[in-house]
Order: sequence, then structure tokens, then C-alpha cells
Amino acid sequence: MKIYLNGDYVDEDNAKVSVFDHGLLYGDGVFEGIRLYEGCVYKLEEHLERLEYSAKAILLDLPIKREELREAVCETCRRNDLSNGYVRLVVTRGPGHLGLTPDGCGPPNVIIIADEIQLYPEEFYENGLKIISVPTRRINSSALPPAVKSLNYLNNILAKIEAKRVGFQEALMLNDKGEIAECTGDNVFILAKGRLFTPPLDSGSLRGITRAAVMDIAAGLGIPCQEQPLTRYDLWTSDECFLTGTAAEVIPCVEVDHRQVGDGRPGKVTRELIALFRQKANTDGIRL
Ligand code: PMP
Repeated sequence: MKIYLNGDYVDEDNAKVSVFDHGLLYGDGVFEGIRLYEGCVYKLEEHLERLEYSAKAILLDLPIKREELREAVCETCRRNDLSNGYVRLVVTRGPGHLGLTPDGCGPPNVIIIADEIQLYPEEFYENGLKIISVPTRRINSSALPPAVKSLNYLNNILAKIEAKRVGFQEALMLNDKGEIAECTGDNVFILAKGRLFTPPLDSGSLRGITRAAVMDIAAGLGIPCQEQPLTRYDLWTSDECFLTGTAAEVIPCVEVDHRQVGDGRPGKVTRELIALFRQKANTDGIRL
């Protein structure tokens, strides 16, 4: 496998960065996860824009321009002969001293890995996921804006472990007010009385690119969709529930905290959104 590393395409075994990189020492850096569908990089501009905003928000100067980064993402896919897969784009603060300050760190390391993707098995798209709320909270938005897609995922990792330990595939994360924030790597939607609802960003959700795509598809179908703080009760009593994310796409949830959602089967609107999302996925992006 060829990895893009700071302008070069190197073999996986030679893709090495310093142990002094603050990305490793402190999780100081930003990243994106991007999908490649039938030779088309899905919503690449949106991902590059979010990366730029994340970097700007943590005062990290990207050492590479949008055009070069776009080409590097595409070229990494081409060099690995991929037409379907997952691209991980990472920018770290770069090597520095053993202190927190980024002064003297750098240059940032720009890494692009393009590989095949392990999706949730198709059975979960057909039968739905069972999720559970966990004690670990999403980081408060005044501590770290949830819109920043940073390399700090420790609380999401703990939440995932907590869910798995009690036999669930995915964890529902709340914010410190007890409102729904998101799942560990996916945004949450519900359908109630014919309307879609998803938590606003200040509830602690990432500005998901799949979330925005689903909102567009829903608008096209004439289904109203609004951002609104949600509680666990709203999920327990919803007619349908689903998650959205680059890796999971649109995936139904049929049980939340041991309560059956709707009739316990993926809902009609959810199934329609999954079908339309899949139909559009290879047309909505940049061709290799
Ligand atoms: N929330 C978190 C915490 C995530 O890591 C992700 C995946 N990147 C998402 C939501 C979904 O966002 P997107 O649709 O842009 O992948």
C-alpha cells in the first residue's frame, strides 16, 4: 500500500513520523474520513473545507493548499488502484519538544491513507442497530468546539468500549446537560410525527457531512427536518431513528436503551433515505 506522506508516496513500511510529533504525544492535530464510491471521492470539497476550518480553529497552519490536497487525495486512491474505499487524511502539529506548547513544533505532517473499508454488515442495514446511552459524555462545546474534528477521540473511544462491554454495537453519547449529542462516530436523527429532528451543533454534534447530505435528500422528498435539542425520551418515543456518518452511511436504529423504536423494524423513511443516499453516493463528488 502506498501512503501519501508530506508530498511523497511511500510504502506502508516506510511511512514513518517522529515519536516527538505532537499528534502522537497530545492528539494535537486534525483529520477527515472520506469515502470513495465507484471512482468518485464523495463530497471531497466539503471534507477539505472542514479540515481547513478545524485546522484554523486550533491555530494549525496547513502546509498545503486546497488544490494540492485535493490532488493528493485522488492520487493516493489511484496509486492504490482503489475505486471504492475509505480515505483517512491526517494533519498533525508535527514534531516538537516534550511540552504542550506548539511553539517550535513542525512542520506539520500531512498523511493520507486510502484503503478498503469495513462496513457494518448488511444485516444491520436490513434489521437495524441496537444502541445504548453510556456514562461517558461528549466533550462540552465550550471546552472544545464539537465542529473541530481533532485527533482527540478518547472520550468517544471510552463510550464505544462501554457500549461494547454490555453487548451493544454503538453508544449514544449525551452532553453535560443530558441532551443527545451523537454516537461515537455518527450523527443521530429521529422521525417523529412525519418530521425529522437532529441535535444542533451546540448539543455537541460534529457538523457531519452525511448529516448535511441526508438533510438535503429529506428536503428533496419534502420531509421537514429541524435541528433541535433532543433527550433520550425523544429517541425512546420516536417513530424512526437512524445514524449518519461517512463510514456507516445511513443506518437504522431499532432499539435505544432497551426500548423498541417504532415497530422494531427499520422505518419506511429511513429505508428510503438509505436507498437515495446509496443512489447518489457515486455522483456527488470528484472523479479520480
Ligand atoms: N460525529 C463524530 C464524532 C464523527 O467522528 C463522525 C465521523 N467523521 C461523525 C459524527 C459523522 O460525520 P461525517 O458524516 O462527516 O462522517
